[in-house]
Amino acid sequence: MQLPTQKSVQQDEAPQKIEKMKHVVRRIKFESELDLDFGERVAEKAYGQKLLSCIQCGTCSATCPLAHYMDYTPRKIIAMTREGFKEEVLNSLTIWLCASCYSCYVQCPRQIHITDVMYALKREAIQLGFHPKRLPIPILAQEFYKRVLKDGRNTESWLLISLYLRTNPFKMLKESILGLKLFLRGRLTIGKEHVKRRDQIHAILEHKKGGQPL
Ligand code: SF4
Ligand code: SF4
Repeated sequence: MQLPTQKSVQQDEAPQKIEKMKHVVRRIKFESELDLDFGERVAEKAYGQKLLSCIQCGTCSATCPLAHYMDYTPRKIIAMTREGFKEEVLNSLTIWLCASCYSCYVQCPRQIHITDVMYALKREAIQLGFHPKRLPIPILAQEFYKRVLKDGRNTESWLLISLYLRTNPFKMLKESILGLKLFLRGRLTIGKEHVKRRDQIHAILEHKKGGQPL
């Protein structure tokens, strides 16, 4: 039996190496690729310039109960926001996993409103369409807003139906038995609830939104 020479082994591996290299993602960015005003814009929406005074001590990440599940820790999110890594920040799961518990803000030595930064980033991600398309959290926020804008109230059954239709229609079939039980016990209603002066609610919410899409 003829043993493969070192040269023939290298030739066999070459196509695999080229294929692997196609999937290599450059993780650093040139300054020209950054959105250098991003940090300032987010800071304006989250209690001003304090965001820019972060000393990167990491206390926020150490106190965050959900940091282990996040793709970027709160400290990294603050640093990346400040430096203009807009796409990475707005595509991250971190902003959607934040449970708004405020422990990072309480512990931060610079009193940076990290929770409000997360809220500002969530709004920006929804407005610019950056969030993962089938991630339930931003879709739930959008559908809840639409229901309140239209009827002045939220009807839970319709909220769930629209959420499942946009995220996972098969799950709606799976949950239908539970939905039926809740309906029979009077915990879910089919009829849509609404307030009398819907036009006033509509005007208030549109004014607060300032013409931005949600
Ligand atoms: S605790 Fe405050 S100062 Fe420290 S890294 Fe977090 S945001 Fe920055
Ligand atoms: S508010 Fe969000 S980021 Fe801050 S500690 Fe709580 S979960 Fe973590």
